[in-house]
Amino acid sequence: MPSTDDARFSILVHGGAGFRAPDSDDEAARAGCLAAARAGHHILARGGSALDAVQAAVQVLENNEEFNAGKGSALTSLATVEMDASIMEGLHGRSGAVGAVKTVQNPVVLARAVMEKTVHLLLVGPGAELFAQQQGLPVIDNTTMVTARARHRLALHSPSHGTVGAVAVDRDGTVAAATSTGGTMGKLPGRMGDTGLIGCGTFADNATGAASATGHGETIIRVSLTRFALSEIAAGRSAREAVNAAVEKLRALGNTGGLILCTPRGELAWAFNTSYMPHAWVDAEGREGVSLDGQM
Ligand code: ASP
Repeated sequence: MPSTDDARFSILVHGGAGFRAPDSDDEAARAGCLAAARAGHHILARGGSALDAVQAAVQVLENNEEFNAGKGSALTSLATVEMDASIMEGLHGRSGAVGAVKTVQNPVVLARAVMEKTVHLLLVGPGAELFAQQQGLPVIDNTTMVTARARHRLALHSPSHGTVGAVAVDRDGTVAAATSTGGTMGKLPGRMGDTGLIGCGTFADNATGAASATGHGETIIRVSLTRFALSEIAAGRSAREAVNAAVEKLRALGNTGGLILCTPRGELAWAFNTSYMPHAWVDAEGREGVSLDGQM
């Protein structure tokens, strides 16, 4: 683990692994990812925590209709929005998560509240929504989260993508990760994927790093994807080798997805076996980048 002096702060965000839909807006995806990375980096540059940075970045992405999280989420078979989210920091392993919430604008904010204000780690459904009200979070009508584009995609049985996530390391060398999603298009009501599950969609540990996953949730859960990727770092692999090994796990099970990872030293890495995974970063040298498909 780096000392405070040699820690290099950096952030990496993703906007979901999948295939470019005919109605995807490349410019909106690029601009949205970059805005999220910058929002998080701004916090890190002022000496803020990685936890605050990943939450802020994911909130920016949840508020952007281009992505499958918050407003603009994929729809259930009943054409409703049900969202999952999780957040974790790597110093003490504190984490919070929510599943199948319908009336919350920013599920990542609720996940953070579960982490900080309860003795629990995961709240789902109406109980999570009641807790959100008790915390004074705005209650929203589920129909306001349903966009015309999401309805169109549901009607076409178009596969969803656009789950969002962020990983960051701060000046203290503490890492954090957060992930948020509307899940898979046409899912059964009540279905939870990997995004609300620590170790699957999200994991952070200062000994190794932080990771956020996207893709076929049921497969990601089966292989505990983010936990697996960070165990590769513990085994001595580089960040790049770790994300590649994780995606190979998905491929071996016949499925697709991707993940982003950062180490406490500020190395950033991503991998995906789909044709499209918008991602953006501000690295330890302060250089920005954005890509939709691996090409700059
Ligand atoms: N992993 C998400 C889920 O299964 C979906 C995605 O990343 O596209 O809910």
